[in-house]
Amino acid sequence: MNYNKKTVKDIDVKGKKVLLRCDFNVPQDKATGAITDDKRIRAALPTIQYLLEQGAAVIACSHLGKPEPNFEKWVKKQTEKGKDPASLTEEKWKASLEKLSLAPVAKRLSELLGQEVIMAADVVGSDAKAKAAALQPGQILLLENTRFEKGETKNDPELAKAMADLADLYVSDAFGAVHRAHASTAGVAAYLPAVSGFLIQKELEIMGGALASPKRPLVAILGGSKVSSKIGVINNLLDIADTIIIGGGMAYTFAKAQGGSVGKSLLEADWLDYCNDMIAKAKEKGVKLLLPVDTMAAGEFSADAEPVLCDTMAIPDDMMGMDIGPKTIQEYTQAVKGAGTVIWNGPMGVFEFPAFAEGTRAVAKALAETDAITIIGGGDSAAAVAQLGYADKMTHISTGGGASLEFLEGKELPGVACLLDA
Ligand code: ADP
Ligand code: MG
Repeated sequence: MNYNKKTVKDIDVKGKKVLLRCDFNVPQDKATGAITDDKRIRAALPTIQYLLEQGAAVIACSHLGKPEPNFEKWVKKQTEKGKDPASLTEEKWKASLEKLSLAPVAKRLSELLGQEVIMAADVVGSDAKAKAAALQPGQILLLENTRFEKGETKNDPELAKAMADLADLYVSDAFGAVHRAHASTAGVAAYLPAVSGFLIQKELEIMGGALASPKRPLVAILGGSKVSSKIGVINNLLDIADTIIIGGGMAYTFAKAQGGSVGKSLLEADWLDYCNDMIAKAKEKGVKLLLPVDTMAAGEFSADAEPVLCDTMAIPDDMMGMDIGPKTIQEYTQAVKGAGTVIWNGPMGVFEFPAFAEGTRAVAKALAETDAITIIGGGDSAAAVAQLGYADKMTHISTGGGASLEFLEGKELPGVACLLDA
C-alpha cells in the first residue's frame, strides 16, 4: 500500500469549500449526553484551524456511535435485545437518534476554536445544502451524524455524491475511521480532489515509514488477550521485523503449542498449529521470536488475586498467567534498548489490575527511555501508556484502534487508498 499521499499543504484551499471528515466519535455520559473526553475534537483542531486560516470554508462531518437509521431494522434489533415490540414507537426511535446528534460536539468545538460552529440539522438534506451554500471563507459548518443516513455504512454512491456536491475539495483527517469503506470516509473521494489532513499525514509518515523502511533493528512487541485477534499483525510483522516479542494472554497459546502446561490461562486451542507455524516462519526468516520465560500467575481472574511467580511452560493446573515475570521483563526491556524502531501493540498482562500491571509498566518505561522510534498501536495499549503516564515520551501513539491494527496487518485502508498520491 502506498502511504505517500497528498496533504492539505499540497493543494490551494483559499476560497474553497472543504468537506472535512473528522473523527468526532467521542465518549458521552449515558444519562446526560455530556462529552466525557474531548481528545478527538482537540486532535482535529490543527487541520481545522489551518483550513480556516487559509481562507477555506470548512464543512466538517463525522459519525457518532451506532445509530440505526432504518426504523424497521431498529425495531428488529431492539426486539432481539428482548424489548417488547409494542413499546417500540417511532418516537422512541427518533429519540435514540437524537441522543447521537453531533450538536454537543458543535458546542465543544466552538468553545475550542473560539468561533461559531454552525450546526446543520441533517447530512445532505435541505438544511445542510442551504447552510453549505451560504458558508463563507473562514466559517465552519458541522453536518449531522453521517450514520443518520442509510447509505453511509453501505458506501452508497448516491450519498457520497450528495456529500461531495456540498464542497469543492475533500480532506480526510479521521484516521480512526479509515479502515471502513463508508460514503463519508472513502466513497466521497470519487467525486472530489481528496487529500489528507495533519492527523492522517502523521499516522502515514510515522507508521507507514516504520513498516516500509524502518530504522533497524525493528522490534515488534505484541500482546493483548488473543492470538486470534492478532494473527494478521503477527504474520505481517514477521515479514518486516528483526525481533518479535510475545506477551499478554496470547503467550499461553504459544507456550502450550511448544509443549508447555499453562493451567487455566487464556488458551485458544484452535490456534496451536498456527503458533507453531509462526515459530517456524520466524526461524526460516531469521527473525528472533521471544516468548515469556516466566509468568506471574493467579488462582483467579481478580484484582485481589495473589501474584505467584512460575515458569511459563509449567503453570500449575489451578492457576492462570496474568503478566510476564521479572526474567522476561529483563529480557524484553533489553531488546527494546538496542532497537532502532519499536512497534508495540497489546499489553503484556492484565494491566487493569495493579498487581498484574508490572510487565506492561516496565515495557512502557523501556520505550519511554529508549532513543528508538516508538510507535503504539491499539486502543488498550494506547490507554495503558496514557494511564502509566508515558504518553508524551512516545514518538507516536496511533489515534485509531481498529485502523492501527489493520495498518499493522499490512491491509489496504480504504480511507487512505482513496486519497491522491503525492
Ligand atoms: P489492544 O487494544 O492494544 O490491541 P487487546 O485488545 O488485544 O489490546 O488486549 C488488551 C487486553 O488484553 C487487556 O484488557 C488485558 O487485560 C488483556 N490481557 C493481557 N494479558 C492478559 C492475560 N494474561 N490474560 C487475560 N487477558 C489479558
Ligand atoms: Mg483492544
